[in-house]
Amino acid sequence: MATREEVIAALSPLLPDPSALAEVVVLGRDVTVTLRPRGPREELGSKVREALAKLPDVAGFEVRWQADVQGRNVGPEDPLPEVKNVVLVMSGKGGVGKSTCATNLTMSLHRAGFRVGLLDADIYGPSIPTMLGVTGRPVSLDGKSIEPLERFGVKLMSIGFLLEDPKAAVVWRGPMLHGALLQFLKDVRWGALDYLILDLPPGTGDVALTLAQRISSPYAVIVTTPQAVATDDVYKSVSMCEKVNIPVVGVIENMSYFIDTAGVKHELFGRGGGQAIADFAKAPLLGQVPIDQSVREWGDKGTPVVQASPFSPIARAFVTVAERLTDAVDARRTEGEEEAPPEIDRSGGPGGRKRLPIMK
Ligand code: ADP
Repeated sequence: MATREEVIAALSPLLPDPSALAEVVVLGRDVTVTLRPRGPREELGSKVREALAKLPDVAGFEVRWQADVQGRNVGPEDPLPEVKNVVLVMSGKGGVGKSTCATNLTMSLHRAGFRVGLLDADIYGPSIPTMLGVTGRPVSLDGKSIEPLERFGVKLMSIGFLLEDPKAAVVWRGPMLHGALLQFLKDVRWGALDYLILDLPPGTGDVALTLAQRISSPYAVIVTTPQAVATDDVYKSVSMCEKVNIPVVGVIENMSYFIDTAGVKHELFGRGGGQAIADFAKAPLLGQVPIDQSVREWGDKGTPVVQASPFSPIARAFVTVAERLTDAVDARRTEGEEEAPPEIDRSGGPGGRKRLPIMK
């Protein structure tokens, strides 16, 4: 078992200044280190993790961050005034692991010390209730606002919580679903959060447009798989974000590769898709997440792998993605890049022709 003093001695040379180390907790063979951010979190976090991995008799370790999160400029009509950052997780098409990334990112951020909520805005196919093992119905204590459900310390809302049978969503009409989504933003008591993660439906949909109109300065994260078939759709998502002024802060390449029992790496779905999308979006590639059976198994069991097996290499992959995401969001805010909401033309276009109602 490593002592606290040994941990501090191993980390001290890595720290930009001694006060960057806020807390060290040793519990049996597990070590949790809390850092105060000094520059990019991922850079310091990975150095510290590397050093912790080398310590003898340490089985598991985690890095937490003292929350020091810059917030967005919240407009007067914004439905989420107490939420510092809104991150939309998007993909071009279904099945690329968008919801898996959204839930594991959420859990990574929570475990790293941030206040986080997750809104399942995938109104046509809500999967967050399954992936987080949450059933039950949200209640209202005051008859006006809705209390979010909570699991593993994270606030949650999903249209799945309101349906007797999740398949019933298909009979809902679009406006009803949009209305429900807006209500989830406005009427759910999210409270003060550092990050609210929104799991959006796949495609270039109108949901993102609705959100862009209502929320000040949301950011998008695009999830893709490495192969071209998936990426064609993803380019459209990136273009749509540009049109509605939602900056893409990063790209996650999921199912990037598979490592077999002999340790050999297989790039089952090709390579390079994530980087190509990142280049196109002029955003960083936040990470390449391998295919790992435990991701699906834990997802099916209702506990995201980051929560179920936090010290595993696959959990670390998500943790690194989450850290890079916080760095990317901070970098955008530091640049002072606050986006104006898009102007919407509701006339239906000249001569009543239907077109995407965006003026610039
Ligand atoms: P989407 O939200 O894009 O439709 P999901 O997150 O529902 O995709 O993922 C589709 C399926 O793929 C799920 O069964 C999920 O558990 C599995 N999956 C996603 N990412 C991975 C991964 N990195 N390794 C193994 N299985 C994964």
